[in-house]
Amino acid sequence: MSRCYQPHEEWPRHSKAWWRESLNLARAAGWHLKSFTGHAWGRIMCDPALDESCSFLVLSTGNGGEDAAHDARKRIERCPHIAAATSHQILVRAAMLLEQADGLMDAADACLTAEDRACEAEELWSCASSAAAEAEQLLEQAVRADEQASALLAEAYEALPLGSELGCPPKAGQVELLVGLDP
Ligand SMILES: [Zn+2]
Repeated sequence: MSRCYQPHEEWPRHSKAWWRESLNLARAAGWHLKSFTGHAWGRIMCDPALDESCSFLVLSTGNGGEDAAHDARKRIERCPHIAAATSHQILVRAAMLLEQADGLMDAADACLTAEDRACEAEELWSCASSAAAEAEQLLEQAVRADEQASALLAEAYEALPLGSELGCPPKAGQVELLVGLDP
């Protein structure tokens, strides 16, 4: 049974501290791990896609393990492929970030649209409220005009000859009488 681990994944823990240190370094440098079960713990590779990829077999236990781990660390640091692998990883990450940015911009757009709608609603509400205020003012004017009309009507009746004897409104016979009156 073997399993491949990417550098961004969590790798299985090696029982030896010196190997753990080298493995952490490899993982941080963007190396990959193929883990085994048994005497061979796994194989680490700087870039599995490369034919000439640096690669080390890591043993689970055994004599000289500490030296092998130290040696591995030096060779990880000197790997000539890491710069290329790193720039590739940067490109992959940049593409991922751009995709995220795209999503965020869409979300921001949606937020702006919602804000626009809120502004529109507020404008409509303010329009509605000023229309209501205007309507109230007009109503007051209408009431005042009605009162003035009533007062004028009363004045007109008083000014008319026999006005005080007329009903309000005057009866048909009274109107005929008024129309027939000489000035
Ligand atoms: Zn390499």
